[in-house]
Amino acid sequence: MAVQTPAHSSVGDLLSYACDRPLPAGTLVRIPLGRREVLGVVWDAPALNAGLPEGMEPRAIAGALEGVPPLGRPWRRLVAFAAHYYQRSLGEVALAALPPQLRDLSPEQWARRLRRPAVTPQADPASHPKNIALSAEQESARAQIEQNSGPFLLYGSTGSGKTEVYLRCVQQALEADPTAQALVMVPEINLTPQLEERFVARFASRYGAGSVVSLHSGMTNPQRLKSWMAAHAGTARIVLGTRMAVFASLPGLKLIVVDEEHDASYKQQEGARYSARDLAIWRGREQDAKVILGSATPSLETWHASRPPTPDDPQGGRYLRLEMPSRIGAGALPRVRLVDLAQQPKGSVFSPPLIAAITERVERGEQCLVLLNRRGFAPVLHCTECSWKSDCPHCSAHQVFHKIDRTLRCHHCGTTQRVPYACPTCGNPDIAPLGRGTEQLEEQLAALLRNVITPERRAARVARIDADTTKAKGALEEQLAQVHAGEVDVLVGTQMVAKGHDFRRITLVAAVQPDGALFSSDFRAPERLFALLLQAAGRAGRDAQYMAEQGRPSEMWVQTWHADHALYAALRKHDYPAFAAQQLAERAEAGMPPFAYQALVRADARSQEVAQAFLTAASAAARDGGLSGMEQVFLFPPVPMAIQRVANVERAQMLLESPSRAALQRFLAAWQPVLHTTRAQPEHKGLIRWLVDVDPLAI
Ligand code: ADP
Ligand code: ZN
Ligand code: ZN
Repeated sequence: MAVQTPAHSSVGDLLSYACDRPLPAGTLVRIPLGRREVLGVVWDAPALNAGLPEGMEPRAIAGALEGVPPLGRPWRRLVAFAAHYYQRSLGEVALAALPPQLRDLSPEQWARRLRRPAVTPQADPASHPKNIALSAEQESARAQIEQNSGPFLLYGSTGSGKTEVYLRCVQQALEADPTAQALVMVPEINLTPQLEERFVARFASRYGAGSVVSLHSGMTNPQRLKSWMAAHAGTARIVLGTRMAVFASLPGLKLIVVDEEHDASYKQQEGARYSARDLAIWRGREQDAKVILGSATPSLETWHASRPPTPDDPQGGRYLRLEMPSRIGAGALPRVRLVDLAQQPKGSVFSPPLIAAITERVERGEQCLVLLNRRGFAPVLHCTECSWKSDCPHCSAHQVFHKIDRTLRCHHCGTTQRVPYACPTCGNPDIAPLGRGTEQLEEQLAALLRNVITPERRAARVARIDADTTKAKGALEEQLAQVHAGEVDVLVGTQMVAKGHDFRRITLVAAVQPDGALFSSDFRAPERLFALLLQAAGRAGRDAQYMAEQGRPSEMWVQTWHADHALYAALRKHDYPAFAAQQLAERAEAGMPPFAYQALVRADARSQEVAQAFLTAASAAARDGGLSGMEQVFLFPPVPMAIQRVANVERAQMLLESPSRAALQRFLAAWQPVLHTTRAQPEHKGLIRWLVDVDPLAI
């Protein structure tokens, strides 16, 4: 029985229970655990408490959840794999993968629920919408997906019609087999309604209204349970969802689509830190379903895995890359204009030429999007006079500014020094962290534009959309509606406005302070920046007809101190492949992913010393123990995390790197008991918790 037991408890999470009849693996049951009654899943593995002390009998189950077919073997294998790979307990992953309400209902409540009539999808074949004709690029991609087994990378510009290709592939899979199911994942909840609309419009008449269901954390628990049951029973043919949907029980799964596969939100950041994209690949292979990863700016891992064969590399990658470079029905990609901040008045966050360009657009009734940094970049110090930055003397990384004790630390090797009083190169005392807060910038921009008048003879309006302004339910939709209605002239936002939204009247997009990412201590920061800028650029000039009426090309403005940086050179030409090639060369040289595999171990304690001492002791114990895989795994010394203290808890982390994924996996599996034993030693009493992040996205 897989049961969720308290984290790190000694009980384990496969427990034996007694039942008066044999239950097939995958059956959901209510079982007593301590003084509580909890949900469990019958598992096909020996229980850890099989050797009960003499005279003790296993407790009896409280009851099976009648009416739910047992969870199939593919689902159980997926859960077992994820638990093993991400170093979590089986029970935790299994129970987290089930809808919350299933965990809370008693068998009686459950039976009552089941008595409600189930909706069976009613098809109405007469009202099929006609398929639109695919472009040549779309048709070629579709045919390749039909003829090959994949996995596929659908590499298509924003607006190239990737969604239309997904729709066709889904249609094909469902038509070929009356029990077939498709899973379509998107990174953000706020993108699911748009997608759902398109899928419902296409498929509800063919397969019935209940044939398309959603699964994401924005739904109520009863809604989620309903969708989950429909998927599990096979009545839902298409499941749309965010990362959690990768764990849906889909007995007929034939196709998985991961849209915007590069998006960081596919990685779960707590509990089992799984990557829904990576699990989708695994699941597809295991369950014999095709997998399509789609993006205009693929992750470098996926790009590398889809490299075409060359004479030097006759095998090429494991994925098949399909390209769709042309935009359909959208205007041309915006012209990229770099503002060299070195040539601008000192200290201006918004350079005069950018303000002039925004003013001109607003006066013509066009809209602008001003993009601000993602929040929470690890700050790097820089000199406002010369180009000095806080480099680590031992690594190709920048040292990170830790405000709390005014030190500079390298997160790779741990080297620490005090913040200098002045720039070590030119003596300028004005050294500051790169990057600034979003709120002040909005105010500053509004002040700069306060005399600008729109064609309707009203003052220009500036509005900000970010995590802070959209906390309330429905706030984001409301704010987006205002933009669409033309009530906002300049939209100031973080990455969340750069994704997916179809703004018809935006003709200028500006990134005012993107440089921080170029010199972040996180080696993935440039990759994310490039994706973000290209996505943001894709928001400009979406409506070809409107652009033709306005008679001027759309523009993407980038303000930078590093106008000659390779990233901006590639951006100018909208050249993702050039950018990727340059980044991959750097990563290969430095032995970083995708050419190496990583894991992070984090320790939390009341003091930094205790947190680090635990990590040091655990890694010493690994060395002494000569653990499996050890010879191929490099353990870096522990360092404080970039955000070192949160709510009075000190956090430290340790990076593990290996050229072999298998070796790293073997090592982690062997190391886990060592971490438990180390933790139990009296000198580590002050440790609050530790956790492992496999394939971490942020270092
Ligand atoms: P992507 O997912 O690549 O950003 P979409 O699939 O959303 O692109 O397509 C962009 C726009 O082009 C949408 O409005 C879509 O309806 C339209 N479109 C896509 N394919 C075609 C086609 N073959 N013919 C006409 N319009 C199309
Ligand atoms: Zn200087
Ligand atoms: Zn270093």
